[in-house]
Amino acid sequence: MNYLEIDKNHLWHPYNSLPSKTPIWSVKKTKNCKIFLEDGRVLVDGMSSWWSAILGYNNKRIYKSLKKQAKNMPHIMFGGLTHKPACKLANNLVKLTGFNSVFLCDSGSVSVEVALKTAILYHKAKGENRYTFLALKNAYHGDTLGAMSVCDPENSMHSLYGDYLSKNIFVKTPNMGFDADFCEALEDLEEKLKENHKDIAAFIVEPVVQGAGGMRIYNPQYLQEAKKICTKYDILLIFDEIATGFGHTGEMFAYMHTNIKPDIITIGKGITSGTISLGAMLTTKEISDVISNSSIEVLMHGPTFMANPLACSIANTSIKELLSFDWKTKVLEIEKTFRKELEVLREKKVVKDVRAIGSIGIIELNSDVFAQDLQNFCVQNGVWLRPFGKLFYSIVSYTISKKELEKVIKTMVKAVNEIDKKYEKCLK
Ligand code: PMP
Repeated sequence: MNYLEIDKNHLWHPYNSLPSKTPIWSVKKTKNCKIFLEDGRVLVDGMSSWWSAILGYNNKRIYKSLKKQAKNMPHIMFGGLTHKPACKLANNLVKLTGFNSVFLCDSGSVSVEVALKTAILYHKAKGENRYTFLALKNAYHGDTLGAMSVCDPENSMHSLYGDYLSKNIFVKTPNMGFDADFCEALEDLEEKLKENHKDIAAFIVEPVVQGAGGMRIYNPQYLQEAKKICTKYDILLIFDEIATGFGHTGEMFAYMHTNIKPDIITIGKGITSGTISLGAMLTTKEISDVISNSSIEVLMHGPTFMANPLACSIANTSIKELLSFDWKTKVLEIEKTFRKELEVLREKKVVKDVRAIGSIGIIELNSDVFAQDLQNFCVQNGVWLRPFGKLFYSIVSYTISKKELEKVIKTMVKAVNEIDKKYEKCLK
């Protein structure tokens, strides 16, 4: 059987045509921070499978719990039934976050859908119909329709789906930089809320780092001030921690860089350390009580694989593993290394900015035509990275060795040097 032919003829890859017009590499196996290709090459993983594999791949204890749970009960419906893995996970998440009410679902995007629904139901329970959401420019919250409707309309897939998407309101993003000024963004927020607050159910934000919409790092104090304004207008604040959660920014959750808590958070990705899909929406007791004690009574959502025991069990072991070592020091070391080693690129003509936070190192380019060249160069040099548009970035697992991290960064630097030569030629 020619697997690659099957892939080419039948399998859609993310954001791609069929067959893919860009290279697809075939993976045989993974181990911690290494990806073994079918053709015998070994790549150091600089992507942690899109923010998810925080503990690398094939963690022994996670594998053991997967095996045990699979033997005992891989799945059972959650309607009218419960099980220890879900209860244990709820307890773990409540302890980690301080939220009270947990909805376990299939993926990050679905948890965003559940968060949006919860906000609508909260206001409905209080006798108000509020069907509009506020989001930041450059936002990315997932690929399902509700989640897409709160993604930046210009910087996402909105134009492809046109009027099918709900109309929401977008506000200015805070300036780039962990210590940067955010006055203009705050003024815009206040203005938009003043005008539209009666229709707005919630303000949804990726806290501290906006991911796919630009890998933008901003000042956490913006969130503190935003919370005050939202409270004034009785607008719920939703933090989408799907990407930032479980340590990526140097805190367990990005909102922990602030002195406030939102009303709702959504999590996913790192919750199972990239082993299996799982998402969750967490909220306060006050909000779940308002819905449950109203005539609405129920949170009207219930996917077939909700609280899948296998996923819950894996998540419990992953959380235990994460808490069993000094992940924070490791993440801060990674941040320092990215910051120091990528700095040499700042002077390059093709480079607009370099920045880092936690386990994330980012090179923003002045041109979006080099993404494929960069990726090809990295694979040829033994590193897996997947740049998109003007963003050439790496998010590494916390279990990466010094040598592996060095290899990822050195390859990024070499790759940028290569395209810089081409860019200079284009400029002439
Ligand atoms: N929100 C954010 C901030 C994300 O980065 C992502 C995933 N890229 C999602 C939501 C959607 O999560 P999933 O891909 O698990 O549906």
